[in-house]
Amino acid sequence: MIEPRAEIGILGGSGLYGLAGMEGGEEIRVATPFGDPSDRIRLGTIGKTSVAFLARHGRKHTLLPSDINYRANIYALKLLGVDRILSASAVGSMRESIHPRQVVLPDQFIDRTRNRISTFFGDGAAAHISFADPVCPELRTALLAGSRAEGAVAHDGGTYLCMEGPAFSTRAESRLYRSWGVDIIGMTNLQEAKLSREAEICYATLALVTDFDCWHEDEDDVSVDSLLATLKANSRLAADVLRKTVAGLPRERRECRCGQALKYAMITDRDSISPEARKRLAAILG
Ligand SMILES: [Zn+2]
Repeated sequence: MIEPRAEIGILGGSGLYGLAGMEGGEEIRVATPFGDPSDRIRLGTIGKTSVAFLARHGRKHTLLPSDINYRANIYALKLLGVDRILSASAVGSMRESIHPRQVVLPDQFIDRTRNRISTFFGDGAAAHISFADPVCPELRTALLAGSRAEGAVAHDGGTYLCMEGPAFSTRAESRLYRSWGVDIIGMTNLQEAKLSREAEICYATLALVTDFDCWHEDEDDVSVDSLLATLKANSRLAADVLRKTVAGLPRERRECRCGQALKYAMITDRDSISPEARKRLAAILG
């Protein structure tokens, strides 16, 4: 085990490869039983809170959503002592009322990914976590308050559909997802939310809207210039919101049960877990 180094983990998505305003510049490589995380992790502080920042696509954006080692990313943060993860993510809007450069704090997910490993368990240890409410309510509320305090137009709640990518949806898929009541679409957050819950880490998404996917018939095709300008504006906003949120979070987790997710989830009797699985899952099983 590594000595605890950070209280809060921040996962940066497209356009957010570092965090302006974070003090301290130590970068470390963290090895995990599940392989290597997307990049080195930067350790620092925001105010009095210790934070660990990781760019989920790598700092040069070299990893497709399907190529990200989600298990290594979440496990590495767990090893560093993180018990809350704030995830900043670029998304497409599936609703007329949700515009580019606005933010959404989703409270539900739909999984349309394929062949991604979404669990730490298996190979000698079985567990089924509760995932009916996949987002930490306390962290989500804090992100909402942080967003509004920074002047963002913030939508309270919503359903995030996680698609496989890397190509975007067809128009037929986009219309289908709208008929399902989907609010936003992205490619990365579902696995992170599941693995965080298994690791008993609070997880919440700050979704930054870049475009209207392809369903919107009145919207012009997005030019690269305007998309880049939106990504840049969103990155600035994300950094402001994340700093504000971290600064306002109470030190102790009070209003959620994320920290006891495994209490009734383990099916395998603890004495029957193989030594290999016990070693692999040491940070999670304690
Ligand atoms: Zn929580």
